[in-house]
Amino acid sequence: MDLEGLQQLQEIDIQRDQAKRELQVIIDQISDPPFIAPLEGEIQAQENEARRADHAVREARAIVQTAQRRIEVTDQRLYSGSITDHRTLEELQRELYGQRQQLPPLVDAESRARYDAELAHEAGAWLQRLRTSALDIWDVQQSALKRKRAEAQERVDEFSRQIEILRDRLSQEDLATYDQYRRRRPQVVATVAGGVCGGCRLTLPTIVVTRARRGTRTVECPSCGCLLRVT
Ligand SMILES: [Zn+2]
Repeated sequence: MDLEGLQQLQEIDIQRDQAKRELQVIIDQISDPPFIAPLEGEIQAQENEARRADHAVREARAIVQTAQRRIEVTDQRLYSGSITDHRTLEELQRELYGQRQQLPPLVDAESRARYDAELAHEAGAWLQRLRTSALDIWDVQQSALKRKRAEAQERVDEFSRQIEILRDRLSQEDLATYDQYRRRRPQVVATVAGGVCGGCRLTLPTIVVTRARRGTRTVECPSCGCLLRVT
């Protein structure tokens, strides 16, 4: 068994596993902006609020205009010269006075409605600006992530090319064994140095090291199960 070749393959396989994990971390961060749905909900609610406020302004305006017309009508009757009856004139004067008294609170109500509408429109415009700037920031971050994803994918692909070259040099039998071991754990082959298994740092029994050095058949570490390679 070509343990040296398999160990080279294993090194690249481990590096590719790491590169794939890094790629996945980047992919997990690429998404549509999560804040956009709630923000658009708020913008919609604010637009409804502004529409209600505009409607309230129109209503308040109409009330003021009606009151002003009533004052004009009373005023015209009073000073038309057609009414000469003293009592009727007095009544009209009282009526005009009462109508004029009612006007300022109505004008105030219209001003308040206009102010509320202005605030509602400003809040809407502020939310729109927030949405635009948040999207700009998000796009910049996402573009950076997409560049990183392309780089990470390129690293994975480069390892895959190296793996292909290494696998071409190995026998089908060795590769079948290697693949079977590797499904269970990332490390398949461990180097023995100074009688210690490189996979688990266990000091191996002399008989195991001797058998592994002979190399007539593969020897597993009794602790971690790696195929032992004595250099
Ligand atoms: Zn071991």
